[in-house]
Amino acid sequence: MKTDIQIAQDAQMIHIKDIAQKLDIMEDELELYGKYKAKLSDDLWDRVKGNKDGKLVLVTAINPTPAGEGKTTTTVGLGQALGQLNKKAVIALREPSLGPCFGIKGGAAGGGYAQVVPMEDLNLHFTGDFHAITSANNLLAALLDNHIQQGNELNIDTRQIIWKRCVDMNDRVLRNVVVGLGDKMDGVVREDHFVITVASEIMAILCLAKNRKDLKKRLGSIIVAYNYNGEPVTANDLQATGAMAALLKDAMKPNLIQTLEHTPAIVHGGPFANIAHGCNSVIATKTALKLADIVVTEAGFGADLGAEKFFDIKCRKADLKPDAVVLVATVRALKYNGGVAKQDLAVENLEALKKGIVNLEKHIENLQKYQVPIIVTLNSFITDTQEEYKLIKDFCEHKGCEFALSKVWELGGVGGIDLANKVIETLENKKSNFSPLYEDDLSLKDKIYKVASEIYGASHVIYAPAAEKAIKRIEEMGFGQLPVCMAKNQYSLSDDATLLGRPTDFDINVRDIYVSAGAGFVVVLTGAIMTMPGLPKKPAANNIDVDDNGVITGLF
Ligand code: ADP
Ligand code: MG
Repeated sequence: MKTDIQIAQDAQMIHIKDIAQKLDIMEDELELYGKYKAKLSDDLWDRVKGNKDGKLVLVTAINPTPAGEGKTTTTVGLGQALGQLNKKAVIALREPSLGPCFGIKGGAAGGGYAQVVPMEDLNLHFTGDFHAITSANNLLAALLDNHIQQGNELNIDTRQIIWKRCVDMNDRVLRNVVVGLGDKMDGVVREDHFVITVASEIMAILCLAKNRKDLKKRLGSIIVAYNYNGEPVTANDLQATGAMAALLKDAMKPNLIQTLEHTPAIVHGGPFANIAHGCNSVIATKTALKLADIVVTEAGFGADLGAEKFFDIKCRKADLKPDAVVLVATVRALKYNGGVAKQDLAVENLEALKKGIVNLEKHIENLQKYQVPIIVTLNSFITDTQEEYKLIKDFCEHKGCEFALSKVWELGGVGGIDLANKVIETLENKKSNFSPLYEDDLSLKDKIYKVASEIYGASHVIYAPAAEKAIKRIEEMGFGQLPVCMAKNQYSLSDDATLLGRPTDFDINVRDIYVSAGAGFVVVLTGAIMTMPGLPKKPAANNIDVDDNGVITGLF
């Protein structure tokens, strides 16, 4: 069996202008980054904005194992299968972060015969969007510290600085740092913090902005600190907005690449779903809807995180109406949820599967609350057995859900024909009555309780004193009507990563809360979740190399 990167390197890519042609994009509307990558120009949007929207299909999953359960693989494979059925389909994905690439999980280009290419470019620097976001974030930090150094006219309280620096790397030593050490001319000494770029508010803003004007409005509203009177100090107050928007000029444009079977893929923005809102950009999704009849998009991690935020933040804010949801399950994740250790997941174990299937059950019930038709798909691994398949299929049919086995990892689009047909049937015959989980005018605590109780299954929400204080202040400042962006570990429905399956009788612990006024949501930190991940004992980076001909190995 070839590795993901070997399959990707053997791919016969076609010129990106020929991919664009499949979506009736004109050559002039492409900004080429070599032969196989392009950005979509602002002119394209102006030309197509009046077109009728295609159908929007979200791919989400049950709670994953640390390796990922194949949402990207399924999204890409489903796109390829729709292409084989002669549908005008496009995929909308997030750009990968370097953090997981070099950590445990690896890249985010899909897997096996369901990948987007060029996979090395996509996983490493791609078209530079993340560097632009990192630069804009750190420009704001530099302007903030310089303002304090130059006399602090805005009376910024250095003990109440919210804005953090960022880097796109898993680098735990940067979680808490001291800046400004040295002499008088080296700045004012203070404790500072780094987040990973995919958790930066700038990433969220880029992904939620409707256009450049909206981008600037949002950038300007970022709260960087509070002054000595307790009033917010914004990026506009620091006169940082224009320069940040200039740095993001090209990063605002969606990127076009292709799958192994030449299906067009629009890849843009990449917030994580555990510590951010977890979906590709609104601009990319809206453009995709204007260009194709079916758009298949992915939200990160399990449906408790990615799908919840896709519906309650992205769809609410961008006025998107999803038409169907594909819920990805794997035998290994269900066994993992049934208590099987990571190293034993490849062995048939029907008892553990029966025990872990409650996780799938809970996600089906949760998704039903949004009133969007659901198709469950089992992402097949070669170690799965017929008995295991049957158990899951029977369970789904008993629950009244459409079910399709998917073999896209092994076979590419051909392995997803059954799934694609189920999706097409659903789009043609079942109506989506999408509605978000909560109303804007609920209090912040009511919104948090609604997500915690209805989606996670928690009994109570317990607030630390800092969180209580923060809620009061955020509501007094007039941000109580914003949706909540829950930051929670991805392995459990609870805030304790070791409670697998479908936990009951647990509480959600809210440690802290802050408003991302530019992004337009309130971030709720639960349990021990970190906004700067660390590397594992054996980082994936240790196996990555490039030979004398420039060929990369070990990336997955
Ligand atoms: P997610 O998007 O859910 O995080 P990915 O699609 O990125 O998951 O897949 C995670 C990893 O699992 C990738 O390395 C991919 O190659 C691998 N993978 C996905 N599906 C399969 C499968 N059916 N069989 C074997 N490996 C798979
Ligand atoms: Mg993914």
